[in-house]
This record gives sequence, structure tokens and C-alpha cells, in this order.
Amino acid sequence: IDTNIQQDMEKLQNSFPGFRFKYRLIKRIGEGTFSTVYKAEDLQYDTYDNSWDLERGDDKWTPPPLKSFSSHDGHQLQRRRKPKYVAIKKIYVTSSPTRILNELELLHELRGCPNVCPLITAFRATDQVVAILPYFRHADFREYFRKMTIPDMAIYLRSLFSALASVHEQKIIHRDIKPTNFLYDPESRRGVLVDFGLAEREGTEWKPCACSKTRKIRAPVPPRAGPAGYPKQDSRPSRRANRAGTRGFRAPEVLFKCTEQTTKIDIWSVGVILLTILSRRFPFFNSADDVEAIIEISTIFGQRKMKEAAKNHGCNFETTIPTIGTHGFTFERIILWSTCRSDTGDKLTEQEKLAVEFLGMCLQLEPEKRLTAKQALKTRFLRLGMD
Ligand code: ADP
Ligand code: MG
Repeated sequence: IDTNIQQDMEKLQNSFPGFRFKYRLIKRIGEGTFSTVYKAEDLQYDTYDNSWDLERGDDKWTPPPLKSFSSHDGHQLQRRRKPKYVAIKKIYVTSSPTRILNELELLHELRGCPNVCPLITAFRATDQVVAILPYFRHADFREYFRKMTIPDMAIYLRSLFSALASVHEQKIIHRDIKPTNFLYDPESRRGVLVDFGLAEREGTEWKPCACSKTRKIRAPVPPRAGPAGYPKQDSRPSRRANRAGTRGFRAPEVLFKCTEQTTKIDIWSVGVILLTILSRRFPFFNSADDVEAIIEISTIFGQRKMKEAAKNHGCNFETTIPTIGTHGFTFERIILWSTCRSDTGDKLTEQEKLAVEFLGMCLQLEPEKRLTAKQALKTRFLRLGMD
């Protein structure tokens, strides 16, 4: 292992009294925006409760044989059990205490939700907070998404939507749905949703947005002065709205700074994941900022629908970019293009059509037109994922 990582692991073990007797750090498994995550063995785990042993996917349980092993410091230990692995999420000390508390509280509240990674415990030593989660074996999205068949996609999404159905039922928005926050093991075909670092309750910082006024009759928004086009004019109101999330996965209403965001923003992000898998392109959207992200979405949806969506949230959408047409393109065409089938005259298969139809119900510009997670689980497409 890299000496820097080794040093960080040493430091972590020394920052909590008794840490080294509880956990044996194995390796660093993730370095996110807000934390570093390590894989560790839980040394005090010797009960026969394997309810958290998601990674093995065992149906039947037999007592494990006696096994000797050495702890990180070379202590010889012998126990009758199979090792239990945990993920130790070391939250950066620069994160605000409210943010950390928010993440831990929401995780605690969501314990027991299917396909949501539970929180085992958490520790704090001065400004350092670590969260202990069951370790979940998973593969890198880039390694499997190109090989996924339509039923594979349905199984993957069934698992993700089951998590979202229970999260959304509690009126919690995850806000950062993307492949690295949904740990999926293609072998066992199980997935868990992680990373509630940006999650929030629906209605937090609620302020009325144009979209809540009578949804049919809307007053036209007076255009702001200035030339149309990118990047000089940004007609979005200079209001504050939660924009937390990851570029490429932000829903249009987030980009339009809607102040009444709902759990539907997560549905859009799942749609982006499905679009990525179907088109075999990752990342599908690759914008540097929100205005660019709006342009990318407009290329697909076209000016007419974008103007309408912008207006709903009190924004004006004007552009002179020639590649943004009036009507945009269908997802079917986009997928045929990106999988190099538009010249061959190939059509989508029946199963692909089912997936594309489903995609269209997730990637709706208007949040209220998108499926809810619960509705998604009832669709024909996601039923393909039922064994
Ligand atoms: P961040 O807020 O820094 O993005 P995450 O909670 O998303 O932190 O974790 C970062 C990475 O660590 C994940 O993408 C994943 O690879 C790994 N990870 C997180 N939790 C677990 C877990 N329970 N089991 C296995 N790996 C995990
Ligand atoms: Mg993450």
C-alpha cells in the first residue's frame, strides 16, 4: 500500500482510543468529495448475528470454523467466526457539524429500509467523525455497465428504486443519486444506496417558486435585458436554491433554481443512470457548470419544451446555439446513435423499447410528470427484474 495511505491509516487508528482493538484497517476503498472510506475488519464481532453480512449473500448459515488471524499490530487472535467487514467513513474535518449531524441522523432514521446501507455506529474525537457501516462488496460501475442486458438493468434499477421508495416515503431527498453512491455487486445482483451527505428533508428552505402557482395558467416572465445566448446572459433569477448534487445528474428544476424541490429530483438522476447504461456512455452528460448542463439537456429536449420548463420556475430560456433544435430528439434516436446503430437501420428490440419508454417517464422535464419510485416499481420494465 501507498505510504501516504498507510500513514493516514495509522493516524486514524491513533485518533480514537481503543480503535485498534475494535477494527483492523485493511485498505482505502474510496475517496469521495466529503470523506475517505476504508475497509476494515470488525475485531469485536463474534456474535453469530450475520444479518449484516450482505456481501456474502448466504442463504444458509453454518458455524464458521476456528480461525486464527493477526490484528493490524500483530496480535494473534483466534475466534470461531467468519470475519465481518465494515466500511469506515472518515468524514473530512472541514465538513460543517450540521452537515455531519444531518447525514448521521438521516441514516439513523432510514435504518431498516431495504437496499439502504445501515449505520452501525459513529464516533467522534475532537473534530474527527467516523461512521461505521457494514462493508458492501461492489464493482466499479465502469466495469459492468456496458455488459448489462435489459433484464440486468431492470434488476439493478429495481434495487435502486426499492431504496428510493422507502427514502422518499419518509420525505427525504437523497440529492446525490449517481453510480458511485449506489454500490452494486453484479455477481449477487444486490445493491445498496449510500452517501446521505447531501440528503435533506423535502421542504427544507422552502420558498414559493413560480412552479407552485396554478400549474396551468402562468403569467409570462418578462425577459431580462441583454443578448440571448451563452454564456453572457444567465436569465435565471438570482435567488438561492439548493443546488447540491453532482454535475451531470442535476434535475432541470435544480438547474433552474426551483425553491420547491421534491424527491422527484432523485428520479431524474436515476434516469441519467439508465440513459448512461442504454447509451453505453459514461459520463453521458459532461458539463462544467449549470448553464452548460442546461444546454446539454436542451439538445435532447429541444427549445420548445425547455422554454416551457424554464418558465415554470420563473426563468427564461433563450439561446442562439444552432445545435439546439426546436423539438429535440427522441431517446430512441439518441440511443441508436450512441450505440452506432443509426446507419445500419437497426431498430430497438422489444425489451429495449420497454426500457426506453421507462426512461422517458424518469427523464421528464416537469417533476410532477416523472414517475414516483413506488410507481416505477410497478412498471412492466422493472417487473422484468423480478425473479
Ligand atoms: P462521499 O460522501 O465522500 O462521496 P460515500 O459515502 O459516497 O462518501 O463513500 C465513498 C466511496 O466509498 C463509495 O463510492 C464506495 O466506493 C465506498 N463505500 C462507501 N460506503 C461503503 C460501504 N458500506 N461498503 C463498501 N464501500 C463503501
Ligand atoms: Mg459519494
